[in-house]
Amino acid sequence: MSKPSPDVYESGRGMDAHNKVMREHRAERDETYDPHEPTRVWLDEDNTPDGVYQSLTIILNTGGCRWARAGGCTMCGYVAESVEGGSVTHEALMNQIDACLEHEQENIAEQSSAGNRTQSGDAEEKSGLIKIYTSGSFLDEREVPAETRQAIAETFADRERIVVESLPDFVQEERLNDFLDVGLETDVAIGLETANDRVRHDCVNKYFDFEDFVDAAETADEVGAGIKAYLLMKPPFLSEGEAVEDMKQSIEKCAEYAHTVSMNPCNVQRYTMVDELHFHGGYRPPWLWSVAEVLEATADAPAIVVSDPVGHGSDRGPHNCGECDDLVQEAIKDFDLRQDPSVFGEVSCDCEHTWEAVCERERSYNLPLAN
Ligand code: SF4
Ligand SMILES: [Zn+2]
Repeated sequence: MSKPSPDVYESGRGMDAHNKVMREHRAERDETYDPHEPTRVWLDEDNTPDGVYQSLTIILNTGGCRWARAGGCTMCGYVAESVEGGSVTHEALMNQIDACLEHEQENIAEQSSAGNRTQSGDAEEKSGLIKIYTSGSFLDEREVPAETRQAIAETFADRERIVVESLPDFVQEERLNDFLDVGLETDVAIGLETANDRVRHDCVNKYFDFEDFVDAAETADEVGAGIKAYLLMKPPFLSEGEAVEDMKQSIEKCAEYAHTVSMNPCNVQRYTMVDELHFHGGYRPPWLWSVAEVLEATADAPAIVVSDPVGHGSDRGPHNCGECDDLVQEAIKDFDLRQDPSVFGEVSCDCEHTWEAVCERERSYNLPLAN
């Protein structure tokens, strides 16, 4: 790729222009959301440095991400789901947490009565791992006030691990200590997206630098918290081959600072720049073969590397030919829990040849080469 010149970042160009386009897309939304209900909540299983846990994942409905208000990232539609007007009270946030606890109890009861068991053993009465995302930063006190953060830490003090999502700016010792002090193993999930600053700025339109991620990782490390890095495979404007390389290099680089790397293929969310490009035939989500290739190639990296392809097999999500998508997705899920790259040797399909040709021949001026 060519080097950027300073004028790329002049007013009306570069990040400024990205933000303007993103604000226009976001302005098209008209749904509103109840501040007393979480955006989403579900039970799952997750691989952690202490083994596989039953997890309760919560997407809290907060005022939304500050960066998204300025325009935000090219692929991120989450802000379209947050509450109009920008702030949610302590009471409403705690109502959301109560709703999540109810969801957990109901679903665990259902799983037990249906005889379902998690892969890691018996269905637990309570999930050992809690993961809280906010479509922004849980550690930003404009989204989640200190009082609420402390009350949430108390609520989950009887669990073992917690993951909270945050941009690097808000990773501060005393905010992490709220969780560490009640005895929770604490991780911060940071949406780094890529270790390459140029790709993060120009393709994702995310403002921070790799150095900021490193600083946040060091702050977390000093108080005994960990980092879970989230990477984005194939932001717009990268070819399939460039996207694969970007992920291989990013995983190697951030495994130094994060005990877990979650590498997630881009999907097409509404009210985003990616959506517009996709609509006009200028964006194809990554192939599932690319996900498999990266996981296999980085299996030796000193971190747990997982991927959770959302919307796999659909036109708006990561996909192969339509015939083999479920099989490859299953292999990826299997790899997530066992970290054994040999699972990918067990899946094959004719479309692998098409994918190889795409990786070799696609360039940013002829995207996408094949659907
Ligand atoms: S990806 Fe994160 S930082 Fe970017 S707009 Fe979405 S919530 Fe904000
Ligand atoms: Zn196929």
